[in-house]
Amino acid sequence: MIIVLKRNSSETDIATVSDMVCTLRYQPRVIRGVEQTVVACIGDELSHQSLEVLRNLPAVESVFPVQKKFKLVSREYHPADSVVSVGGTRIGGGNIEILAGPCAIESYDQFRTAVRDLVACGIRIVRAMPFKPRTSPYDFQGLKQDGLQIMREVKKEFGVAMISEVPGPDKIEPLLEVADMFQIGARNAQNYDLLEQIAKAGRPVLLKRGLASTVEEWLTAAEYLIVNNCTQVVLCERGLRSFDPSTRNLLDLGAVAVAKQLSHLPVIVDPSHAAGARRLVPALARAGLAVGADGLIVEAHPDPLNAFSDAPQQLETAKFRQFLDDLAPWIELARKERQVPSPT
Ligand code: PEP
Ligand code: MN
Repeated sequence: MIIVLKRNSSETDIATVSDMVCTLRYQPRVIRGVEQTVVACIGDELSHQSLEVLRNLPAVESVFPVQKKFKLVSREYHPADSVVSVGGTRIGGGNIEILAGPCAIESYDQFRTAVRDLVACGIRIVRAMPFKPRTSPYDFQGLKQDGLQIMREVKKEFGVAMISEVPGPDKIEPLLEVADMFQIGARNAQNYDLLEQIAKAGRPVLLKRGLASTVEEWLTAAEYLIVNNCTQVVLCERGLRSFDPSTRNLLDLGAVAVAKQLSHLPVIVDPSHAAGARRLVPALARAGLAVGADGLIVEAHPDPLNAFSDAPQQLETAKFRQFLDDLAPWIELARKERQVPSPT
């Protein structure tokens, strides 16, 4: 940590600060500048008490942490891009993967038709949501046990990998049997107990960014997964709560670029929950790929008009091929741009 003292601090002030730094088991190194004195403190910030308490001393102007709170997630720790494998499909490492499926499983026919259409377009990881955490308790909450049974049957027929949201610890066990990847939704992005328990289940995890999480909070949430031995983590930007209702959530493309620079984890974009409207999804999908995302997760339903949840934003599965065809030049460009140069 770096402690900046106020202008004209006395030798007594410097000694007081240095003594407190020693008491907190860091080694102080005093750097006297022309105008201000700085105390650089040597010690592992992650295992020691924070020096931020020194902000309360009258002679201290500011205290800056140097170490990041997300060590295992950071590129300093793991410089190469990490690749996450979901049922044999790779996310990251130069591959651009499009995950797709309905917001929720609503019936056998609805889910089967969606999966049939999407698999026919080449989708290899489908959204399969038997549990739906909803903002209102009066909204459709998912088919739960019946949804799990539908998942089993459809998976048996098409053999496709499935991603399911885990809204609480008691859903881990029932989903383990059928889900190839677990999703942590925006509302649970800072539920640390859930993150720890999901990490221990040993499945790859898609971690959505919280409705108002900073990039640091998002990456630190991912650290909870990795520190609990879940190395297969994909980040997902899905838009933030904002002042502007023009889109459902404000897609933070800058955060995708920042996360890609700070972290080795694959990052994908969810244009559907950001857009909130079908007509905006293709543009946000293109933008996500252009800014460096390793893929997309897109909502698609056989009959969006009659969907039980998120009807306005779901694409029609029968028209999904057209969506992918229109996106193809951007996918191609993104693939080329992400290709790791072969060693010479
Ligand atoms: C979802 O993907 O179904 C969902 C609820 O998204 P989010 O958690 O991003 O709101
Ligand atoms: Mn949805």
